[in-house]
Amino acid sequence: MSELILFWHRRDLRIGDNTGLAAARKQSPKVVGVFCLDPNILKRDDVAPVRVEYMIGCLQALQERYAQIGSQLLILHTDPIQAIPALAAALNAKAVFWNWDVEPYSQIRDRTIINALKEKGIQFLNENWDQILHTPTEVRTGSNSPYTVYTPFWKNWSSKPKAAPAETIETAEGLTPAEQEIAQNIGAIPLPTAKDLGFIWDGDLILPPGETAAQARLAEFTYKAITEYQEQRNFPATDGTSQLSTALKFGVIGIRTVWQATIAAQENSRSEETTASIRTWQQELAWREFYQHAMYHFPELAVGAYRDAFKNFPWETNDAHFQAWCGGKTGYPIVDAAMRQLNESGWMHNRCRMIVASFLTKDLLINPQLGEKYFMQKLIDGDLSANNGGWQWSASSGMDPKPVRIFNPASQAQKFDPDAEYIRQWLPELRSIDTEYLVTGKITPLERRAVGYPEPIVDHKQQQQKFKQRYQQQKEIIK
Ligand SMILES: Cc1cc2nc3c(=O)[nH]c(=O)nc-3n(C[C@H](O)[C@H](O)[C@H](O)COP(=O)(O)OP(=O)(O)OC[C@H]3O[C@@H](n4cnc5c(N)ncnc54)[C@H](O)[C@@H]3O)c2cc1C
Repeated sequence: MSELILFWHRRDLRIGDNTGLAAARKQSPKVVGVFCLDPNILKRDDVAPVRVEYMIGCLQALQERYAQIGSQLLILHTDPIQAIPALAAALNAKAVFWNWDVEPYSQIRDRTIINALKEKGIQFLNENWDQILHTPTEVRTGSNSPYTVYTPFWKNWSSKPKAAPAETIETAEGLTPAEQEIAQNIGAIPLPTAKDLGFIWDGDLILPPGETAAQARLAEFTYKAITEYQEQRNFPATDGTSQLSTALKFGVIGIRTVWQATIAAQENSRSEETTASIRTWQQELAWREFYQHAMYHFPELAVGAYRDAFKNFPWETNDAHFQAWCGGKTGYPIVDAAMRQLNESGWMHNRCRMIVASFLTKDLLINPQLGEKYFMQKLIDGDLSANNGGWQWSASSGMDPKPVRIFNPASQAQKFDPDAEYIRQWLPELRSIDTEYLVTGKITPLERRAVGYPEPIVDHKQQQQKFKQRYQQQKEIIK
């Protein structure tokens, strides 16, 4: 009988182009998947129901894929620190394989599990960096340090050869009925629904769950929209971006497959503009890796500001303002439209993420960590590294060399939602108001009252002065 290898899925909910899974299958024909619904994660207060709904859908699709290749995906709902070594021991597995992750929690958890496996004499392979194209130790400055600035990172990262997609496994042997019973005794359960786990999301999902849907979205995007990405990506009323972030967050599509699709699109390109547009999208993939590398090298980013001037910044405590921001009731149409998109759809366009993050930190002077957490509570693609990177960038507290970037909501709306299409879509109460007033925010108090839309909660000009003063003071203090 073949020796069993357990493959522990985490942020790689797919069979295709999965480096760790392909390595497991090379070692033995008998490969069984396992996914642990980790109570330590699910009990946190920043878990978005929409994210759990998508994840459960992906697990269901993954179970079906395992059945197609002849094996199983086991589901556990207990602490992986105990469960993974216990399951491996009970099934007499030769080894447990998984793909490595950058997040501080995963690294600590995985090291504990490695020790437990060692104690039980079970082999492990955890060194696959499946979710990124280059490992955090591979892309370094001339003086051998991690990059803290994106542009030189991009130059180095993009010049490196990229791996081809990992071999997709076509067949595997699964557990015998007797082994399946052992797995059940150890805690393997039928896949619960998100509702069973206490997470209720009744809305649509921006991307249907599962590998097939993610691949279809990639094919659709790289066929046409990628060629116009540079032009279209900043307009929130347009479907000009890939909306693949959720699939990338959960590893429902392999990053090598994604990269390969961009190369194919470049090969088909017939103009410099198209090639540049594809390049711009590749740069977004590099931002994703830049933030993952940053999280790996500087795990303290997860809990506070990177720049000294922001470590003790005197943020305001104003719950009424924070609640108005969360609920899309600040009286600034572009900000409110974006927050309603987030609350109602579980997703927000990138341009709007920057606008609302700037508004929270530079107009309301509220600690970015509150916004970061609120995003995690709502976003389908909520991801520690990307979200933290986005918030630190917007708050000016991160690695960005340009410290005081302040977005003016009116100029942003005029430039990126000139016909107020996006504003009208998400703020139906303002549909009858003239475009000019919607984008400039100059809606009269009378009109606001008539449609039940609030007055601006702060004055943008005054607040940005206040922010700049406080920033200068902080710089003096740390001198
Ligand atoms: C305040 C703030 C919070 C954010 N929170 C998240 C988050 O929790 N999860 C998340 O995946 N992205 C986050 N982003 C980045 C970005 O907004 C989303 O990745 C993007 O909007 C997803 O849409 P898309 O898939 O259509 O992107 P596309 O424009 O099609 O880009 C392709 C892929 O590149 C990656 N990407 C694009 N822009 C960025 C970026 N600025 N930083 C990191 N990766 C990027 C994503 O994986 C994305 O799917 C945040 C940005 C900001 C400003």
